[in-house]
Amino acid sequence: MKCPYCLNTKVKVVDKRDIEELGSIRRRRECLGCGKRFTTYERIELTGFSIVKKDGRRENFDRQKLIRGISRACEKRPIPRQNIEKLVAAIEGDLRNSEQKEISADEIGKLVMARLRELDKVAYIRFASVYREFTDISSFESELKDLKRDL
Ligand SMILES: [Zn+2]
Repeated sequence: MKCPYCLNTKVKVVDKRDIEELGSIRRRRECLGCGKRFTTYERIELTGFSIVKKDGRRENFDRQKLIRGISRACEKRPIPRQNIEKLVAAIEGDLRNSEQKEISADEIGKLVMARLRELDKVAYIRFASVYREFTDISSFESELKDLKRDL
């Protein structure tokens, strides 16, 4: 940790309260060199969480991979990157609070869909078509009908 003003490395935490904001912890710090105060944000990593794939294989939860998947669905949609990161942070929060250490790929797909639906309908449909693997046109149509009811 370096002071952003004088680059001194001797810095203390002034406010011990950890304020959790969207998957990161905010801390007030004070430089012991110049005495200036500043705020740092530390991302809370979701460690040791596994995704159980359809074939039973497990892989570590990968934040970047999830962001990539959602970004693909959001391509050419007017959605700031920040909103996608917020969405993923919210999902990480859900997972942290779930008191489990693993989740099926199917379940995490549902979590994403529920939040994406609020964010952007087109991105939601794109994501759903990949995740749900709409096998026939009628399941796709019933999904669309559901959406229209919401609009
Ligand atoms: Zn300083």
